[in-house]
Amino acid sequence: MSIPGKEARQPPREKGSTAEEDDGACPSVLRAVGKYPPDCHRGLWSAIRAYRTEIWLIVYHGCFSQRKVSVFSWKGEIFLRITDLRIGRLSLPLAHPFKTALRTVERIEDVAVMVVGEDGGVGYGEAPPTAVITGDTTGSILCAIEDYIRPAIVGMELDDLSAVMEKLNACLVHNTSPKAAVDMALYDLWAKSQGKPLYQLLGNARSSFETDLTISVNQVDEMVKDALEAVRRGFTTLKIKVGKEGLADIDRVTSIRKAVGNDIQLRVDANQGWTAAQSVAIIKTMEARGLNIQLVEQPVPADDIAGLKYVSGQVDTPILADEAVFSPTDAANLIAIRACDYINIKLMKTGGIWNALKICELAKQHGMECMIGCMLESQVAVSAAAHLCGGQGAITMADLDGPSLCASEPFPGGPVFDGPTIRLNDTPGIGIELPGEIFG
Ligand SMILES: [Mg+2]
Repeated sequence: MSIPGKEARQPPREKGSTAEEDDGACPSVLRAVGKYPPDCHRGLWSAIRAYRTEIWLIVYHGCFSQRKVSVFSWKGEIFLRITDLRIGRLSLPLAHPFKTALRTVERIEDVAVMVVGEDGGVGYGEAPPTAVITGDTTGSILCAIEDYIRPAIVGMELDDLSAVMEKLNACLVHNTSPKAAVDMALYDLWAKSQGKPLYQLLGNARSSFETDLTISVNQVDEMVKDALEAVRRGFTTLKIKVGKEGLADIDRVTSIRKAVGNDIQLRVDANQGWTAAQSVAIIKTMEARGLNIQLVEQPVPADDIAGLKYVSGQVDTPILADEAVFSPTDAANLIAIRACDYINIKLMKTGGIWNALKICELAKQHGMECMIGCMLESQVAVSAAAHLCGGQGAITMADLDGPSLCASEPFPGGPVFDGPTIRLNDTPGIGIELPGEIFG
């Protein structure tokens, strides 16, 4: 399995014999002299220049009158120790209350993290407390980072990204949201240290794509009004939240289809709200009414895998697994029995980009397409997800409307969320800058 960031170290190659001016060695690179080919120590003195993606080691050998110069370089190597992991809080109002079959939310109240590298560089991440889905609360996120993740990874070398990610995942089970926040902060720092936007290092599949917009579950006329407003804003795909009232959900979808016309793609998300039998009845009725639904997301409870498979087998409309898939193992199990047609990847379920890439790899191997989704996240976590979508071709659908749901975009930088279009740019890392005061 090929996972970006897991490539083997490249052997040093000789650059030539040109003397280079020593403009000040980076301390984190100097330590590498002890780790890399012992013959580099020979000579009168050595000078090191580090660029973002390439390290040159200049070795002078022989006496001054017959000075020979060899320049070695390691392309793509980073020597960067993780020196700190800091925690802050984000509190952002939503433009409108967010309602699903499981909850109603009025503000984003998330935990922010900042990893600090030895060179002073920083990477940012974010975790929302989505207790009803991930089981992670604000308190548990803070505790997991403070008591388990920080002691596990601070002091590790980020140049061995796979070792850091394996330690992060092994230091406690579950707790996928705090793991995701730290994982994306590490990827941010890792990409920044190479001077590249993250999506280019994750596969570079595309630099722009479209997201849908979520229509919260409400009274029918309010949902129709919200749907028309979304279309006016340029969204061509809507995700309709249902699942509160069984067959009454059909009327919601029918009214929205009538109002927006046939050119708008409709996705229906039941958020585990139906039984398997209800799901089949509702979906078959929507099919009979010609509502042309692109997919139905997580119709049955997350742990009802037999029910999910049953529904998938009974209806023509594609079924997307969301709450049923957290880990790569969950994905492998559903794929093995073809319990769904698509998988919705969310960083807060997978524990971050590292495991999400494994799900993408599985999906590619089995010819399955994925959606990238998000919880109620601000720009930071949604931007990390946008970079994953930009990197991975297996992700063909995006549901990254978190920033569109916020009353404002408070942080500078990062991907541009322009109505339905998300545009990635060349800013290194994820691209977002958080104000220092968030971290005290
Ligand atoms: Mg969902």
